[in-house]
Amino acid sequence: MPPIHGFYWSPSPAHLDAEWNAFVQSGASSVVLPVHALTDALLERLQQRSTTVYVDLPLFAGADLRVSFPDSAPVDEYGSVMGADEWYVPLCPNNARVRAHRFANLRSMLERYDDAVHGIWLDFVRYPLRWEVPQPNLVQTCFCDQCLALFFAHPLREYVVDERTTVIRSILYEHLDTWIEWKCQRIARFVQDIRDFLRTQRPDLRLGLFALPWRLSDHNAAIRAIVGQDVALLGRRVDVISPMVYHRLCGQSPTWIADVVEEMRTRSCADILPIIQTIDAPGSLSAANLRRALEIARASSDQGVLLFDLSAVVRDPDKLAVVRKAFDGGRG
Ligand SMILES: [Zn+2]
Repeated sequence: MPPIHGFYWSPSPAHLDAEWNAFVQSGASSVVLPVHALTDALLERLQQRSTTVYVDLPLFAGADLRVSFPDSAPVDEYGSVMGADEWYVPLCPNNARVRAHRFANLRSMLERYDDAVHGIWLDFVRYPLRWEVPQPNLVQTCFCDQCLALFFAHPLREYVVDERTTVIRSILYEHLDTWIEWKCQRIARFVQDIRDFLRTQRPDLRLGLFALPWRLSDHNAAIRAIVGQDVALLGRRVDVISPMVYHRLCGQSPTWIADVVEEMRTRSCADILPIIQTIDAPGSLSAANLRRALEIARASSDQGVLLFDLSAVVRDPDKLAVVRKAFDGGRG
């Protein structure tokens, strides 16, 4: 399979023509579209260009599901219900109704768009955390009634405040290793369920997931301990892992991208396809800095590279020129 050169693209109806033009000019061969952005017209245009279309399927995040399923609110290690953090609204990853709803999303999307879609990338497939900062606030979750019932394998019941506090303390101080392993297994099990479903429905689809860009040595192994993403376990259930190596957001230099990709490759049997940032956050990301990040990402992965996102490139002709050169879109 040739390397993937693609964008994450959340189409804006007001700027659709400009975005389409930049996409075509860049020479991108692939695109990741959020599931809510799919339309027949867009997929037809992409099909005419023989573009590989991957669909981003968000799992355990979303304001709409918090409204539909109020019991999906995660509970943190202080016994508090987690609220929204700006755009990020976390969901309990073990909520049965959320899991069923996401499966229904997947099923209906595949029925609707069929072979216009070539792969599914799982997003927010993890426990809650706002990670896109240099120093994330590492808080253990989720201690909601459903999670405690599942962990202790007892029937669902309501915990009063003092009782929940005592149980959380016991888990964190006496059973932490078991808790972390269980969390990783719960996430991996859900990914396995999706893998099994696709095997029967659409075995040709590529299954990928977006992973936190952390090595085990980062933040005291928080990629497993806090968010429950064990890339060794997950790599046996998906074809591709895409670490979100957003170096500027994470306060890192571009060389860090190669370090993360390299460790993921040694820990996982899946293909590693990095996704790097084009967005100006925090502050502006220069075209020169993007060029450096692109060079490092492409050198570190034989799978290619994804860019997050297209809109940042549409707004900046210098960035578009950098991407076009990297994707070799200038040919002919
Ligand atoms: Zn929970």
